[in-house]
Amino acid sequence: MLRVENISKSFGDKKVLDNITFEVEKGDIAVVLGPSGVGKTTLIRCLSSLETIDSGRIEITERSREEEHPVGLVFQNFNLFPHLSAMENVAYPLQKVKRLSKEESEAKAKELLDSLGLEGLEGNYEFQLSGGQRQRVAIARALAMDPEYLCFDEPTSALDSELRDSVGETLKEIAKRGTGVIVITHDQVFARSHATKLYELGTELKRVR
Ligand code: ATP
Repeated sequence: MLRVENISKSFGDKKVLDNITFEVEKGDIAVVLGPSGVGKTTLIRCLSSLETIDSGRIEITERSREEEHPVGLVFQNFNLFPHLSAMENVAYPLQKVKRLSKEESEAKAKELLDSLGLEGLEGNYEFQLSGGQRQRVAIARALAMDPEYLCFDEPTSALDSELRDSVGETLKEIAKRGTGVIVITHDQVFARSHATKLYELGTELKRVR
């Protein structure tokens, strides 16, 4: 379980997160809804250790793997390396972070890309991929780090409505494989149709379902 207990975060005098508490289990799709500027991105940056917290605790209980990066993040704009192919985007961090050989990393990258329906697109660069395909490369790259929990920053915002449901299906598949999924969004329709746990972030975090 990912347990977030009373975390707070300020930037200068501005308190962005004030005593936030919640729990996510493996297999959950926990969705945090909230208006722009309320601190959603800050929350998942804290969970994935890209930001330090001022107080409180983020704890992972019953860890099944001793990974360096137990909480991954798929960025809103995907942050692919534009000078690397889809395959290299996934394989490169496997070499750098997981210390896999080129062959091993490419085999694992191919397996992940295939599992996300990207077979045949391994050699494409970012500019040769659609929005939905870019997102799936970013998801493959995040999954390559073998996270126990994976955060998604506005996963539907860069996609047209047809692709929204396919993102939902992808997240469901990831959750089913045993990764805890945390999504922040202001997309109410997406949230209500895909969340197993639904929260609203305002001045406090409230569970609404
Ligand atoms: P949006 O939906 O528009 O992305 P959000 O809910 O994700 O918004 P955050 O990006 O978390 O909101 O920002 C919350 C507040 O914290 C904003 O007022 C923002 O200006 C401020 N903030 C975020 N990061 C920093 C930073 N590194 N330094 C100073 N202020 C920051």
